[in-house]
Amino acid sequence: MAKRDYYEVLGVSKTASDDEIKKAYRKLAMKYHPDRNPDNAEAEEKFKEAASAYEVLSDAEKRSMYDRMGHSAFEGGGAGGFGGHGGGFSAEDIFSQFGDIFGGAFGGGGRGQQRQQRGSDLRYVMELTLEEAVKGVKKTISFTAPAPCDSCDGKGSKNPNDVETCKTCHGAGQVRMQQGFFSVQQTCSTCRGQGKIIKNPCNKCHGSGVSDRQQTLEVTIPAGVDNGDRVRLTGKGEAIRDGQAGDLYVEVVVREHEIFQRDGADLYMDVPVSIADAALGKEIEIPTLEGRVSLKIPEGTQTSKMFRLRGKGVKPVRSSMQGDLLCRVVVETPVNLTARQRELLKELQETLDGDDQKSSPKKKSFFDRLFD
Ligand SMILES: [Zn+2]
Ligand SMILES: [Zn+2]
Repeated sequence: MAKRDYYEVLGVSKTASDDEIKKAYRKLAMKYHPDRNPDNAEAEEKFKEAASAYEVLSDAEKRSMYDRMGHSAFEGGGAGGFGGHGGGFSAEDIFSQFGDIFGGAFGGGGRGQQRQQRGSDLRYVMELTLEEAVKGVKKTISFTAPAPCDSCDGKGSKNPNDVETCKTCHGAGQVRMQQGFFSVQQTCSTCRGQGKIIKNPCNKCHGSGVSDRQQTLEVTIPAGVDNGDRVRLTGKGEAIRDGQAGDLYVEVVVREHEIFQRDGADLYMDVPVSIADAALGKEIEIPTLEGRVSLKIPEGTQTSKMFRLRGKGVKPVRSSMQGDLLCRVVVETPVNLTARQRELLKELQETLDGDDQKSSPKKKSFFDRLFD
């Protein structure tokens, strides 16, 4: 039987754009896909014919060869075929196209692999407060992901007898095809490498065995997690027919805290202290993640002075050591002064000005060096 013209096969004109060719091919591939036409030899032929036509017309180089020489360009012993590969197109190329055509409904299929496949791992980003990350938390998450079809129990067909060994490849999932002089191993297009044919596909999942489902899970986040830590939920990732489901990874993102910054096991915070408290010393109250504690600011405390509160930090999830809380003093210059406060400060200013050596040694040495 003579080969039909590739443009005729796809139903496009000789001047069709790449986009038109792609669209036409997708339409045909959907229509004649073996999963939708089980045991239909004619559909299978049409499907293969469309795939061959697309293989050539979607590639600028092959298309121009075809335009010049017709089918003889790709016949055995012809003018070079496809760069020495004997014209063998891998079925993988074609099936990877289905990824977007079917929106991943056939996700587990294609890629030329054999039956023992595994679904993809999924990632769920969970935002936590610092308190939740430090103390641990239980959270319920909801997401939509491919799950075993509840109508056919993930088998692809309601009746297990409707699942048959593929007659084309006898269950191997691979076939040998003659391409000109070459014999090429290809993924069986009848069963898409699955080795099985579903005669009477489930109405709900169309034989894929999976359907997108809203899922709700309770996740236990252990105490001490930090940005980027992941909790794995085995088997809660993408489900596929005849294979193992992937895993779900819940990845932690910790929201910024108003007061504390975390660095591993330690927490940092700035503690504003008034000029008078810093100069005279005072016991002040500061927050920690376990409530308030008192901190003694000694007389003459300078800005940037660090105080370490042992054991008031974090115990990281993979460590048994509790970190510290580091408090950095920030001396706050008073603003919005009353007349009385202004008067007192002026008085103080006058006494300090004549007394640099003793009361402001840093300032003294700074200006001494400057004028040297
Ligand atoms: Zn189903
Ligand atoms: Zn097969």
